[in-house]
Amino acid sequence: MELNGVKEPVPVATTDVLVVGAGPTGLVLAIDLARRGVPALLVEKSDRLFPGSRGKGIQPRTLEVLDDLGIVDAVLRAGRAYPRMLSWEGPDGTERGHEWDMIERATPTEQEPYANALLIGQSRFQDLLHARLRALGGDVVFDSEVSGLVQDADGVTAAFADGRTVRARHLVAADGGRSAVRRALGIAMEGESVDPKPMLVADVLLTPDAIVDDLNWHVWRTATDSGAVLCPLPGEPGLYQLIVRFDDENAVPDTSDAGVVGHLTAHTPVTGDQVTKVVWASDFRPRAALATRYRAGRVLLAGDAAHIHSPAGGQGLNTSVQDAYNLGWKLAQVLRHGASDALLDTYEDERRPIAAGVLGMSTRLHRHRLLSQDGHARAQTRQLGLGYRGGPLSTGRAGALEAGDRAPDGRLPEGRVFDLLRGPHFTLLAFGTPAPAIASARLHVHELGAYEAYGRGLFLVRPDGYVGWAGEDTTGLDAYLAAVGCAERP
Ligand SMILES: Cc1cc2nc3c(=O)[nH]c(=O)nc-3n(C[C@H](O)[C@H](O)[C@H](O)COP(=O)(O)OP(=O)(O)OC[C@H]3O[C@@H](n4cnc5c(N)ncnc54)[C@H](O)[C@@H]3O)c2cc1C
Repeated sequence: MELNGVKEPVPVATTDVLVVGAGPTGLVLAIDLARRGVPALLVEKSDRLFPGSRGKGIQPRTLEVLDDLGIVDAVLRAGRAYPRMLSWEGPDGTERGHEWDMIERATPTEQEPYANALLIGQSRFQDLLHARLRALGGDVVFDSEVSGLVQDADGVTAAFADGRTVRARHLVAADGGRSAVRRALGIAMEGESVDPKPMLVADVLLTPDAIVDDLNWHVWRTATDSGAVLCPLPGEPGLYQLIVRFDDENAVPDTSDAGVVGHLTAHTPVTGDQVTKVVWASDFRPRAALATRYRAGRVLLAGDAAHIHSPAGGQGLNTSVQDAYNLGWKLAQVLRHGASDALLDTYEDERRPIAAGVLGMSTRLHRHRLLSQDGHARAQTRQLGLGYRGGPLSTGRAGALEAGDRAPDGRLPEGRVFDLLRGPHFTLLAFGTPAPAIASARLHVHELGAYEAYGRGLFLVRPDGYVGWAGEDTTGLDAYLAAVGCAERP
């Protein structure tokens, strides 16, 4: 393949993994690959990271992922608990009405140390991911728009809009809901409109004398369930995310600064002179859609490129981060440790059904506002109960767990379970039973006293925190380790 013509700022002509798009998906994948020593290039068409608060809810399962990636403390410091919703009433919307919790608050437990969703603007979250990537020696290459690709048996050659090319062994499309890579591959999205009514989303900076404060998430709702909400964003006093839902299905939200101020003042008692700045604005019509496949040869789709959701329930970003987390270790095992290419097929097998379930839930939440009424949906939004039981990488059961289950945390005399799991390795936990003598550079083995969250037995925890194999003895363990590229001795 001819590689001439590659010029700055793309720093390499070849790499193992080309990650297209530096949203949350691309950044998390790049972090995971960097800590595994897999050469990767993360390219972004814009000249900077996305500037808006869009996906502002980090779910408990994602906090666990961030714990493993070494960034959870920074994210917790930068975010805050979700404030209670406050309904404003009266003819001019200036009378305080009732308050309620959008999501029922849960109490952290030993097994689930991160019990509640965290509020943090997406742009702030992405800045923290970017800082972590840089600390690991990686970075984002901006001003680099992938415009096409060709692939053969050995790799993928991506063409950039400015004429450059990069050759990679695999390409991951993390380029968002309008994914150019997905279109180039001809992979269809199957789905539906969730809500015909258009919505405006914007970040606005308000003066201290505005009627709102950062103690609540403020709601002005019409009888037809349209209206506006202002959610205080952590990090900058006076910064709010505005969402307006229009009654008129044919309305075209004006996203200019003046337009945003006009929509804000039309739907809330906030006055124009109380708006210091419109930081960012966009409009959308909620849709739910799923890519018909996640893999085409050496190209894999992840995040919004593979599934788009209604914002209801705060699932899109979280599902996207977990796609990247599922894929990172599999790419590393195939590229660096001799695992079969078939391991990459399990990415679609595991993640596509999860996305289908999440899409269904966020659509139901959007249409029926089940969040305050349906305990099951409420529990699901935390994503702690999701897993891969019955999947192609889930073998056996022991004690209290079946392969595919999320590996619970716990504080044991020998240490905290999440501390033992943290890092790019596999972990064999022997609870109340002798640990077998297996040595591999990528497998940590711990013999521990019995712990009821696991029960007695052997539990092989994958690098992404799910039980891959479980048994009362080692029958089948070697074969499993070989299949995931973790068999050889150090
Ligand atoms: C109003 C609103 C509220 C939301 N709230 C939540 C929430 O509370 N919780 C939640 O989980 N999710 C939420 N979401 C969804 C969330 O924002 C998305 O799911 C998330 O951004 C997906 O991340 P991504 O990295 O896959 O895609 P994106 O964030 O879209 O990133 C894709 C990146 O790829 C770049 N790119 C595109 N094309 C190319 C190309 N050809 N070459 C190079 N780069 C390219 C783009 O510039 C962009 O930076 C919300 C969304 C909206 C609109």
